[in-house]
Amino acid sequence: MSRAPAEVVPAEVVPAEPVIRLDGVGRSFAGPPPVTALHPCDLTVRAGEYVAVTGPSGSGKSTLLHLLGLLDTPTSGRYLLDGIDTGELGDRERSTLRGRRIGFVFQSFHLLPHRTAEENVLLAQVYNRTPRERRLAAARAALRQVGLGHRLDALPTTLSGGERQRVAIARALVNDPSLVLCDEPTGNLDSANAAAVLERFDRLHAEGYTLLVITHDPAVAARAGRTVRIADGRLDGPAPDRPAAR
Ligand code: ADP
Ligand code: MG
Repeated sequence: MSRAPAEVVPAEVVPAEPVIRLDGVGRSFAGPPPVTALHPCDLTVRAGEYVAVTGPSGSGKSTLLHLLGLLDTPTSGRYLLDGIDTGELGDRERSTLRGRRIGFVFQSFHLLPHRTAEENVLLAQVYNRTPRERRLAAARAALRQVGLGHRLDALPTTLSGGERQRVAIARALVNDPSLVLCDEPTGNLDSANAAAVLERFDRLHAEGYTLLVITHDPAVAARAGRTVRIADGRLDGPAPDRPAAR
């Protein structure tokens, strides 16, 4: 059997799907009174980008984060995560996609109070089908990575704010997510712990993680590669790195 000559296409010339692509995504609440929390917007975030989203209180930052995190669904437009059209997924598929591909870091940490640090990180691997021993090893490695290898059995109430946020970061990273979403991650931390979290994010960015951080703190936004502003539910123009149409 003869073979057609192989057409060799180097991997680097094949454009990768953006991690985030929003096409006209908006979110309204029926009310009363009706509220347009996010006007239809476009946003592209590519793998390895570190993006800050800034805007005043009530401008729609959390609404955007909930949509990006598949915790909420848009009332208009299309959201592609890693090229997957999330509007076409059922609830279970959405949950699985969220669990496998997205890590969250929230202002108030959102740790389960009666579970140890190790259990909190282990529970984030519910969508991971590897054996428990492997998941446990991954949880411990993630906690060691954030400098908490000596506090595996600690309950969140016995940890400082900075340590709790590090557990949350370990939990966000344990599944090697495509996207790490953070909502005011330094909002409940003193300046020393906030600085430590920002250093951690710098390192994650250097390691190639894709980070989107919501913040009203200019010091946080200054660390990101790009800042997207939001005011009155309106996102500023399209991403500057969006490739020109061919
Ligand atoms: P931010 O995080 O920037 O402070 P939010 O995204 O939380 O702002 O809110 C944006 C706007 O949408 C606000 O006017 C808020 O009151 C409104 N909003 C948010 N969630 C809801 C909801 N579930 N029902 C009605 N209005 C909401
Ligand atoms: Mg908010």
